[in-house]
Amino acid sequence: MMHQPITATDPRAWLAANRPALPVLFFAPDALRSRLDEFHRGFAGLVTFAVKANPSPEVLATLIDGGIRGFDVASPAEMRLVRGLSGEVAMHYNNPVRSPDEIAESITHGVTSWSVDDAGELAKLIAAPLPAGTEIAVRLRLPVAGAAYDFGSKFGATPDEAVALLRQVARAGLTPAMTFHVGTQCTDPAAWGEYVTACAAIAREAGVTLARLNVGGGFPSARGGDAPALAPFFAAITGAMAAFDTPPALVCEPGRALVADAFAYAVRVKSLRSGRAYLEDGIYGGLSEFPTMGTPRFVAVAPDGTLRGAAVEPRVVFGPTCDSLDRLPGEIALPEGLAEGDHLLFPSTGAYLAGVSTSFNGYGDWQQVTVARL
Ligand SMILES: *Cc1c(COP(=O)(O)O)cnc(C)c1O
Repeated sequence: MMHQPITATDPRAWLAANRPALPVLFFAPDALRSRLDEFHRGFAGLVTFAVKANPSPEVLATLIDGGIRGFDVASPAEMRLVRGLSGEVAMHYNNPVRSPDEIAESITHGVTSWSVDDAGELAKLIAAPLPAGTEIAVRLRLPVAGAAYDFGSKFGATPDEAVALLRQVARAGLTPAMTFHVGTQCTDPAAWGEYVTACAAIAREAGVTLARLNVGGGFPSARGGDAPALAPFFAAITGAMAAFDTPPALVCEPGRALVADAFAYAVRVKSLRSGRAYLEDGIYGGLSEFPTMGTPRFVAVAPDGTLRGAAVEPRVVFGPTCDSLDRLPGEIALPEGLAEGDHLLFPSTGAYLAGVSTSFNGYGDWQQVTVARL
């Protein structure tokens, strides 16, 4: 498999030795392996990975080596990527909006579970037709708080719609399951508890026994703070499972919580002016999440690899493109001693950076470097 050799002990050592102009995404495979182990030890079901969070073959290969048995895929292209690495892992197609040609190709890749949130989309799957007994997970949406932003505005059936869909799934000879997504970077375990309890009530009302319950992703990453313990989330899920008469098997599909904290992103300071800083990357590149998620706590690294001092001054921080939207939200506390040529090293950048960066204005290129630790 495609494993890159470890080229430095840590990001600061590599930055000092190489003084790169291009932004650098530092990957610590050991951090990814230990987070996967935490899921495997603590979660009472099948752990899968949402490929869109980081589609790099290096990450997928590390997860497969670490024993992951399934992936949440959202497109035929993601399926081809996964199948190129393993013919065996399960693929769950949990993007509930699909064209007939996407459905046809996905059947050839051996998708084992499909989510739906709409009768028209279910009708397309029945018409395809899917093999008898294929699992269909009805995706529920509830007005539940706790996440950095809400996924329910795009996908998910209301409880009444979910009851009707489950009955249709059973009538069509397919296997009923349920799924939900609490929203990304959700820090409140109770959100999962509410959803699990609601799924039990919906299945009972529909008169179906769920084969599986997929509790989605949404688990939090550290974002520069302490790594959030996963145990309270797993306990909330397991506790709420008591609401089922016949408990379904559990599945989860974290993206962010598995990969984010295994990466850090270094961006060079290009220009400093009074009250302002211009970076070599911004919101059209690797920092695209910062406007919605906030800027994580970061460090400033001098060219010799040492950290700049703790005294800070607020500045407006811009990216390199000629678009005025290309700035980090608010004002950012930058060290007083910051100099052009320093790097800002942002933690928790393993999710939604690879695959999301654009080349707008000719920027957005970056290199990945494997390190022993972050
Ligand atoms: C994006 C996505 C995930 C992963 O979400 P995270 O917040 O990164 O954990 C899981 N399931 C589905 C269906 C998704 O669309």
